Formats: sequence, C-alpha cells, structure tokens
Amino acid sequence: MAANYKLELVGVLGHPVAENPSCVMEEAGFAALGLPWRYLTMDVAPADLPDAIRGVRALGMQGVNLTIPHKVAVLPLLDEVSPDAARIGAVNTVRREGKRLIGENTDGKGFLRGLRQEAGVEPAGRNVLLLGAGGAARAIAFELAAAGVGRLAIVNRSAERGAALCADLKERAGLAARFELWTGRCKVGSEVDILVNCTSIGLFPKVSEMPPADLEKARADLLVCDVVPNPAETRFIKAARARGLKTLTGLPMLVGQGAIGFEMWTGRPAPEAAMKAALAKAFE
Ligand code: NDP
Repeated sequence: MAANYKLELVGVLGHPVAENPSCVMEEAGFAALGLPWRYLTMDVAPADLPDAIRGVRALGMQGVNLTIPHKVAVLPLLDEVSPDAARIGAVNTVRREGKRLIGENTDGKGFLRGLRQEAGVEPAGRNVLLLGAGGAARAIAFELAAAGVGRLAIVNRSAERGAALCADLKERAGLAARFELWTGRCKVGSEVDILVNCTSIGLFPKVSEMPPADLEKARADLLVCDVVPNPAETRFIKAARARGLKTLTGLPMLVGQGAIGFEMWTGRPAPEAAMKAALAKAFE
C-alpha cells in the first residue's frame, strides 16, 4: 500500500487562546478512533483574522473553532452561515464543504446535549431562568426556544444586552422571553425548573466568585447549571449541591459542543467518553 503521511487539520483561533482546552478533547477523540487528524491552538490577533481565514482555506484545513474575540467578526469572512448561527449572531465552529467554509454555532446544542444526556432533563415545556446575555446565553436561549422551552427569563447586569437578546428571541424565534435587570441578588422563585449561570462569574482564576442568586424560595427539584467549564466544579455548583439541589457543570456543554464539531468535521460519531475523560484529567 502507498504511504500516506498527510494529516487533516482543524484547530481553534482566539486571542488569547493558550488556556483553551479544546485541543485536549479533540486530540483524545482523534486518538481514540486512530484518525490522522490534528487540532491546533492558534493565537490570532483581531486584525489578522481575515488572513487567518485565508490561511484556513489555503492550507485545506477541515475547519476551525472560533473563540473570544472572533465569534462575531468571522461572519463576513465565510461563504455561508447556518440559519442557527445567523439567529444567534455568532459562529463558534467552521466546517468545510468542498471549497466553501460554513459557519455553525454548537454552543447551545452542546448545552442541550449535556442537559439531556447527563441530567436526563428535556427542556420542552420547562420554565428556565438564564443569568447573563452574552454569547453563551444567546446560543443557549435560541436552542431552548427551538426545543420548545415553556417560559424563559433573562436576567442580566447590562439592560442593553439583556433587552437586545429578548428582542432577537421574539423576532427570530417567536419566543416572548422576560427580561429582568440584575441588581443585587436575583431571586429564584419556585416556578423555575432550570437555572443556568451563563455569565463568566467564577471562571478561573476568579474561582472564589459566584453569581449573586438567592435560592431561598427555589423548589427542591430545581436543576442548577453552570456554563463555566474551568474549574469543573464552580463555587456556584458546589453551593447548589450543598443545598441538596441537582446540578450540571459546564463540562458536559464543553464536551457536547466539541463532540458536535468533531462529528461535523470527521463525519464519525464522537468518542465522547474518551474526550470527556481527557478534559476532566486536564482540569484536575
Ligand atoms: P460574554 O462576554 O459574551 O458574556 C458575559 C456575560 O457575563 C454577560 O452577560 C455579562 O454581563 C456577564 N457578566 C460578566 N461578569 C459579570 C459580573 N461580575 N456580574 C454580572 N454579570 C457579569 O461571554 P460568553 O457568553 O462568551 O462566556 C460566558 C461564559 O460561558 C464564560 O465563562 C465561558 O467560559 C463560558 N462558555 C462555556 C462554554 C462551554 O462549552 N462550557 C462555551 C462557551 C462559553 P453584561 O452584559 O452586563 O456585561
């Protein structure tokens, strides 16, 4: 048989990006299936993004992930943006179809995958409260809308971002979400089924911080979720668990969005257990 030393390349473009752990799980996935693929972690300054995307094309890369600050700036550089990513207004995954680069958003889909697989919870008809209105909140809110969420409330510190998300949800997904300005402690009422911290509060290195949420009136079977993946167990998650509440960490979402990207790129089912184990080890 003729030798074949060609590698298929994917990766992540961000700035800064050195602490982005996606390479750990994607490479673990490639190794588990014995695929000749590599995932590169690449620091790209905002002004260099157009050149970097030209590089993705020229090098024949199979795709890339985008992280802060490129998720929105990449949109006009692509050949096509999926309807989901267009609704959210951000792209976290680019896949190649022939010579065309197509933008997708797998963050919210990754969260829902974790919600269903790890917590065993179906969001249809549920009452959900999201803390935050940034990129992660937007992706999750639109996926919840698509999944038929019952009621959705967005609580955010900046009125402008929170109100913009509610207006976009109404216009693009037909969902009337309620916006509440976040001042002081956010009271979580007994009507809430699922509470999600979609802010960056508690993210490494500020691990001692936690979102000011008042769980006094929360129901006993409330599910408390955190999108922050590092540390794997935030102070928020630990506090909820100490109250006897069910919890879902940011790890299943991270693995979920990475697994969906893996499947888009390789066309193979992602070896999620191997990917998750590699990440959990990296976060120890
Ligand atoms: P953005 O910068 O887009 O949004 C940040 C959000 O957090 C905003 O709503 C912001 O409020 C709020 N916020 C930040 N600090 C505070 C504070 N001190 N008090 C109140 N609100 C605050 O970030 P992203 O949405 O992209 O990321 C948010 C988190 O999600 C990060 O921790 C990131 O690691 C995580 N994430 C996890 C993923 C996973 O797979 N597990 C995937 C993607 C992201 P305001 O609008 O008022 O500024």
